[in-house]
Order: sequence, then C-alpha cells, then structure tokens
Amino acid sequence: MTIIKPHILAALARLRPIDWQKARLYRWERNIVWPIFGSDVPRGMDEITNLANLLAKAVRATRNPIVVINPESPGPRALIFKNTITLPAVVWLGYKPAIAHEIAHLVRHSTSHNGKFVKVYCYLLSHLPGAPTRHFFVRSAMRHGIRVAR
Ligand SMILES: [Zn+2]
Repeated sequence: MTIIKPHILAALARLRPIDWQKARLYRWERNIVWPIFGSDVPRGMDEITNLANLLAKAVRATRNPIVVINPESPGPRALIFKNTITLPAVVWLGYKPAIAHEIAHLVRHSTSHNGKFVKVYCYLLSHLPGAPTRHFFVRSAMRHGIRVAR
C-alpha cells in the first residue's frame, strides 16, 4: 500500500482546477439530460416560474425562495444570482433541466459543479414532470465520468 503524505495530497488538490467537472457536466447535459425532456419551449413566464417554484419546494433547505426568470437576458447561459434565475432564450431547448441546474446552485449556495452539486441536481431532475428516477440520473452521470456525492 502506498501512503501519500497529507502535504502532498494538499498540493495535488491545489493543482486540480476548482470547478474541474464543469465541462464534463455541460457535455452530459447537452447529450443526455436535455434530450430526455425534449425540445418543448415554455408557453409563458407562468409555466417557467411554476416549475422553478415546484423544484425549489422539493428541497427543504430552501425557505420559500422567490424565483424570477428573465428569458430576455442576452447572456449565453442560465445564471443565478441570489434568488434570481436568468434564463436566456438560448437554453429554452433544455429549459426544464436548466431550471433544475440553477435551483441546485441556489440550494448549494455555490457556483461549483462538484459532486455535492450533482447529487442535488440529479434529485431535482427526477422531480421534473415525466422524468426518470434519481437513480437513473446518478448512474448516467457516473457513466460519463462525473463524480456524484453519496
Ligand atoms: Zn452551473
């Protein structure tokens, strides 16, 4: 057995980028997650807001967050700041999982896509209408080399 000394482990951790699985997660979303929910576009702001609130309620850690979505944002991707989700038109193809993604950031109070984030994200994805189970998403993510916290 090889024992790696703690100061070497710490040095290795510093070498690893902070958000090391972001690109991998985005790829998994585009190739696997978004197609599951099809390419339907929301019928209006009420539908988006209701879905966001439904997901927010699924998580006890969030105490009644107010979710505001701005589909007219010029930004390239969905963003979250405090309790405001910005959902630009470009993500409408996968708007349902995009909302789950941003709510997961809200719950985690973090912009990182680490294993703990993916755990919450998979849980929320499984709460979307017509979604497969949480277990399905966890296994699929892991098969794509994404770390999921236990
Ligand atoms: Zn993100």
